Amino acid sequence: MPLLRHQRIALSWMVQKETASLHCCGGILADDQGLGKTISTIALILMERSPSSNCSTEATEHDKPEALNLDEDDETGVSAIDGLKDAENSESFVLDKKPLENGDSLSMVKGRPAAGTLVVCPTSVLRQWAEELQNKVTEKAKLSVLVYHGSHRTKDPIELAKYDVVLTTYSIVSMEVPKQSLVDQDEEDRKSPQVQDAPLESSGYKKRKHPHNATNKSLKDKKRKGGSLLESAARPLARVGWFRVVLDEAQSIKNHRTQVARACWGLRAKRRWCLSGTPIQNAVDDLYSYFRFLRYDPYAVYKSFCSMIKAPISRNPAVGYKKLQAVLKTIMLRRTKGTLLDGEPIVTLPPKSVLLKKIDFSMEERDFYSKLEEESRAQFEVYAAEGTVKQNYVNILLMLLRLRQACDHRQLVKGYDSNSIWKSSVEMARKLPKEKLILLWNCLGACLAICGSCNDSPEDAVVTICGHVFCNQCIREHLTTDENICPAAQCGAQLSTTSIFSRATLSSCIFDQSDNGGFPCHPGQLEPFETNAELGLSCNSSKIKTAIEILQSLSKPKLQNTEFSSRESCHEMVCAVEKHANSVEAGGYLKLHGGTHMTVDKHSDMKLVKVAEKAIVFSQWTRMLDLLEVPLKDSCIQYRRLDGTMSVVARDKAVKDFNTLPEVTVLIMSLKAASLGLNLIAASHVILMDLWWNPTTEDQAIDRAHRIGQTRPVTVSRLTVKDTVEDRILALQEKKREMVASAFGEDENGGHRTRLTVEDLKYLFMV
Ligand SMILES: [Zn+2]
Ligand SMILES: [Zn+2]
Repeated sequence: MPLLRHQRIALSWMVQKETASLHCCGGILADDQGLGKTISTIALILMERSPSSNCSTEATEHDKPEALNLDEDDETGVSAIDGLKDAENSESFVLDKKPLENGDSLSMVKGRPAAGTLVVCPTSVLRQWAEELQNKVTEKAKLSVLVYHGSHRTKDPIELAKYDVVLTTYSIVSMEVPKQSLVDQDEEDRKSPQVQDAPLESSGYKKRKHPHNATNKSLKDKKRKGGSLLESAARPLARVGWFRVVLDEAQSIKNHRTQVARACWGLRAKRRWCLSGTPIQNAVDDLYSYFRFLRYDPYAVYKSFCSMIKAPISRNPAVGYKKLQAVLKTIMLRRTKGTLLDGEPIVTLPPKSVLLKKIDFSMEERDFYSKLEEESRAQFEVYAAEGTVKQNYVNILLMLLRLRQACDHRQLVKGYDSNSIWKSSVEMARKLPKEKLILLWNCLGACLAICGSCNDSPEDAVVTICGHVFCNQCIREHLTTDENICPAAQCGAQLSTTSIFSRATLSSCIFDQSDNGGFPCHPGQLEPFETNAELGLSCNSSKIKTAIEILQSLSKPKLQNTEFSSRESCHEMVCAVEKHANSVEAGGYLKLHGGTHMTVDKHSDMKLVKVAEKAIVFSQWTRMLDLLEVPLKDSCIQYRRLDGTMSVVARDKAVKDFNTLPEVTVLIMSLKAASLGLNLIAASHVILMDLWWNPTTEDQAIDRAHRIGQTRPVTVSRLTVKDTVEDRILALQEKKREMVASAFGEDENGGHRTRLTVEDLKYLFMV
């Protein structure tokens, strides 16, 4: 497996952290998206194999030529060969290792089977990991890989321990691993005498460390009882002792109050890694959860984290961030695409140019927007005068949402509920008592809900059986056939597609039961849904018009030695034919069968140089994607769609079509489905239809295309409308960029806090 130079540096750094670090066995690999964190990690898995691995000898031999290129790793290479490198390096475990006679005899850790490396990743990149492990590792390395996913996954921990690498998802970890206590509750643990006995150890292990310490006996007995209850609920992932746990896209655990974070902390492992291109997204607080997972003492204790990191930053940002940089430096490696290595950039990616396209509203749009903005400002001024801005934060966020949506398309502002009554949940809803239905309806209806996942006003809001509100798209990101934990902080209810309800589903059941007697009607919520005719208005949006113009200019085949007019007429003819075919299909789904190519082939005197450049179009609202589809269907552009409500299979297909079929030139995509390591280098253009609060989310989206493997310059068009709230969001985004940069030491200026403060809000409403 050939590694690029900066990847070899990452590998040798990781080996050093695993074998010779004073702080914790592992760390955070925080290289920019696309620099090959996966590759470096796979190399680490091959080089530092679990002592229980069946094939460590062959693998190390295979890897030797690579190892010779590295500094200071001879020793680790040798110790991996003899397969005895366990007890010396392990502070927390005493290995009771039996020699391997055949594949069936397994070593044990504290009565648990000793397993290999567990890789935890988002569902959407599970397949990508499996493919990388298959493609990048030679047969000779004999790396056995298990994808631990789906309802038929094994229930036997011994089975898990047989593999060198087990791949699974955050949701499954969340389901199977008993959660560690919340930060507020663990202070008591930390103060217990055991901690002073072993200050370098972390809470997960200390309970087992001194079993004969009489002074703590009663406390321990108490704990053991609680512990054994947890144990009995534990499922295979929690029943083995891992050699190494790798959290890919580790920002998934950044909120330390979530079930998923607390479950990940509870995984038993000797070596621990966080991989993330954006470890800090919103606030320095994000780091705490990684420190806790890594057992990075003393910062793994929330109180110490606050007093030693957070407090200094709020007192004096310049000094505080310097301190944070030092703390991070010992356990984190971060390089950006611009990082220099001996004066050369570590990767030479083709240039990326970001064009900020400031669009003018049409007269109609401006009228509509100005009216909306005046109303919102007046309302905000009332809150500001009363001093109730904070109490009305959710309402204010909703007003901002409407303004942002008005910049995209007026149709979005009307609000939108999925008008499909989901068959899956309607039966469940029918079984619920009417009081419960009304309760859930009120959760949705009060307009006072914030999506528990993206923290914005929900788009196409749905309510879970446990009463939590999400965007339809956000909650469906979490739900696949077997992954069913409510993502709301501290909830943990089991969910399935049968236990989330749209307004339409609830109202249909309430009507069923009561003939509308006492039906709680909320103003504005029973507006008729948009008809197709209304959807046809989508080109009345200046943004959509601009986007389509850009796409059309890209999709036109570039021809050589052919006069322009003949190509043009051919193009139009194809369009006409396709439109006709479409109308015959009774207004159904438009299928373009690569018509352009066929026609061009007939004119063999024309030379087709390149069919088209490919583009990704992002919006944060699925509804905006719907609106975009209308003019796309009318054009000759073949596209695919990718959003958070689609199944994993459907997403894979969309990505594959876009990356491999030359005639599919456009991918319209939700920003929320973009942050997860997807490789879309087939695209050389990116269009951002709207702005997200957090600029790193946008950067991640752009990096789907601008990453290693990209050979062409990438052009990014950010569409914003002049003299609107978008101007002010752009300015706020710059503030957030500064904060992220100063935490990483990429910028010397002190940072800013990132929540929307009262000042931010005043600025946004121009009050
Ligand atoms: Zn959401
Ligand atoms: Zn819940």
